[in-house]
Amino acid sequence: MKIEFSSLSNILNGDTYQLRKDHTIENIFIDSRNAIANNKNLFVAIKGERHDGHHFIDELYSKGIRNFIIDQDFNLRNYPDANFFKAHNSVDALQALAGHKRKSFNGLLISITGSNGKTIVKEWLGKLIESVYSVYRSPRSFNSQVGVPLSLWHLNHYQDYAIIEAGISKMGEMEKLEAIVKPNIGIYTNLGTAHDEGFPSLEEKANQKAQLFKDASTIIFCKDFPEISNALHNLPKLEEKEFIGWSFEDNTSNYFVETEERENGTAIRIPYNEQFHIFHAPFKDYASLENITHCLLLLLHQGLPIKVIQNTLNDIRPLNMRLETKKGKNNTYLVDDSYNNDLVGLDTALQFFAQQKQYQKRIIILSDLLETGLRSDVLYQQLSERLASENIDLVIGIGKEILTLEKFYEGKLKIFPDTVSFLEYEKGNPFQEALILIKGARKFNFESIVQRLEQKIHGTVLEIDLNKITHNLNFYRSRLKPNVKTMVMVKAFAYGSSSHEIANWLEFQNVDYLAVAYADEGVVLRQHGIQLPIMVMNPDPRSFDLLHQYNLEPELYSESIFKDYANYTRNQNNPLKIHLKLDTGMHRLGFESNEILILKDLLKQNTQLKVASIFSHLAASDEALHNGFSAQQAMSFKKSADEIVDFLGYKPLLHLLNSPGISRFPDYQFDMVRLGIGLYGVDPTGLHAGQLKSVSILKTVISQVKHIKKGETIGYARKGFANEDIKTATISIGYADGFNRKFSQGVGKVKINGKLAPVIGNVCMDMTMVDVSDIDCNAGDEVIVFGDDPNISDMARAIETIPYEILTNISERVKRVFYAE
Ligand SMILES: *Cc1c(COP(=O)(O)O)cnc(C)c1O
Repeated sequence: MKIEFSSLSNILNGDTYQLRKDHTIENIFIDSRNAIANNKNLFVAIKGERHDGHHFIDELYSKGIRNFIIDQDFNLRNYPDANFFKAHNSVDALQALAGHKRKSFNGLLISITGSNGKTIVKEWLGKLIESVYSVYRSPRSFNSQVGVPLSLWHLNHYQDYAIIEAGISKMGEMEKLEAIVKPNIGIYTNLGTAHDEGFPSLEEKANQKAQLFKDASTIIFCKDFPEISNALHNLPKLEEKEFIGWSFEDNTSNYFVETEERENGTAIRIPYNEQFHIFHAPFKDYASLENITHCLLLLLHQGLPIKVIQNTLNDIRPLNMRLETKKGKNNTYLVDDSYNNDLVGLDTALQFFAQQKQYQKRIIILSDLLETGLRSDVLYQQLSERLASENIDLVIGIGKEILTLEKFYEGKLKIFPDTVSFLEYEKGNPFQEALILIKGARKFNFESIVQRLEQKIHGTVLEIDLNKITHNLNFYRSRLKPNVKTMVMVKAFAYGSSSHEIANWLEFQNVDYLAVAYADEGVVLRQHGIQLPIMVMNPDPRSFDLLHQYNLEPELYSESIFKDYANYTRNQNNPLKIHLKLDTGMHRLGFESNEILILKDLLKQNTQLKVASIFSHLAASDEALHNGFSAQQAMSFKKSADEIVDFLGYKPLLHLLNSPGISRFPDYQFDMVRLGIGLYGVDPTGLHAGQLKSVSILKTVISQVKHIKKGETIGYARKGFANEDIKTATISIGYADGFNRKFSQGVGKVKINGKLAPVIGNVCMDMTMVDVSDIDCNAGDEVIVFGDDPNISDMARAIETIPYEILTNISERVKRVFYAE
């Protein structure tokens, strides 16, 4: 179905402006950062709590975007070649447009809601159905008020089935989604009991979700959740609905599902149409069994051949939807995405890839696409258009189908018939200094490519979840008054997380400033393409050349360093940005209040220096005991800063607060705040229980398991002692990795297969022994050193230090892996 911009006024309420030239709308986007310069794309400007899409129209117009939906008054004169549609509300308009598209979809639409498992059920179902039919599923977990319409936009006439996921967080939202999704069949996965802010009660939450199936003809759900059953039976037009309410518990139920554990999975016995069907599923855990039962009942309902179902079921695996980024060999950086590779799935990977600025050269390794239902030349022509807009230096295609790309793609392209022949070619080390996106369908076994290209260090990894960084960043930002800027401290390897990856992500999240401790840290950021302004807190005179060369801004904190820098820059014509640090009581670095006169004098003589900011640092912002002192510091800061600002005649940014300061002193935000540890989910104030997410997980592996006889000793200095016969595990982490030696002798505990194992004996340089007498475990099993539990704060407390030290001590030899959804 083609939708012209000019026809929007027939579909939506609102008015069209300009239209010097009409355009066919092929794609819709709402995040200005994902713009693909193309006059077939439509940007919907949405005003959210902190973001306003309207602010990006200027930038998007200059990039070549020509179609906009807006809901505010706007000066259109500056954009003569663009078309605007002014709606009453942009989100409503986006939904209505998607609803229009939905109406012309003639396939069967299955929609999924529930507290957990939506995405897994969607993906598994997709995989099971696609062995027979052409099926579309909404990308990743696009299930919100804007995610659902963006999903529906990709419905197409050639798809037999569409599977759309829908989630809500407050009252009234499902009604809106129902109106546009209009599912034929519903799956209600389950209901969590967690307290939900958005709903008055669990019953009401169940009812709200059930609204999605108001007009559905068939609904599959698990009767073992009584609130779901009740909610569904409260829907209108019950007599027109078919309920497939199955149960693991109630043997009087028509759909009593029995399971029996087998060696390599579980047998599932499902009654359907007066017959029993037994399937074998390759997993044993409850959640997976619940999810797959929903899928199986749907397939039985749709009459898919039992044999086909069983065959595909054997290949069902846990889902990995995360994009993983890590260092590769020969100075490369890998982005590994094993999620679906249909065209829509590819889009999200390409967007993430485009955000990575660390290397100039870009390579994509891609297998045949699995888009079902499209003719291969149409499919590869579309792929070619998509790739052409991405500035890719080399595309490597693997498979028999992707050869078709040669007909359309004009950039550099190399095709291999299979993964093995590509690996053979790779032996010549063809890639250097490049970003590489690896995206293949599962049957192409791209894991072997990742393994080959990856930089190998050892079994200990620090996993960093970028989405959780965004969550924490937004949490702190939501506490800021309008227009207060955010500087993020990425000193000390971004608190141990590795700085340029974090900085790149923060730049994409539009933070305003970065700060590092030393010039060389700033240089690394610039060498990896970071363009944000960067403040350097300890600018040694020997580093001035670097500051200059890499456009880094020094903090000047004393008369002597000021004079050094002033001398160095004396003959500069262009103004150079500096930051002035005032000492208001921390007594670390900074001009004291009695030096303000000297400072003014220095500024007067050095007009080549432009003060970008004036700041100070609170000595005890996390402790209520010192609130009086903090207030004194703030007053003294304001007084001195005002005096300097008056003298300067222009207004630099003033800033005072670090993370705990942001939590505790909203009145002292001034123009900017300096976020540090809070970004990683550590809250020194204890005020935000449950609101921050811990960002990193430190993992290692068991190298060996030993049975130790009563009376034997373990490790150096024979400090570990077996009071009885015990079992120990030797794990691959020691104090050289940052696992402090103070964790020796039971002070530290790690988690293995869900249970805590205390350190036994002394921590060694590269290894540690832990007591696993009560834990079922083997060599090769995963060990969690910290994550949600134990968390970094628990660990710090155990050895009487602070979380900052635990994080920043993780040594560089520990490999960092980044995840994003
Ligand atoms: C490190 C640092 C911060 C950040 O502190 P957190 O407690 O980690 O938020 C802020 N300001 C200065 C001057 C710093 O050195």
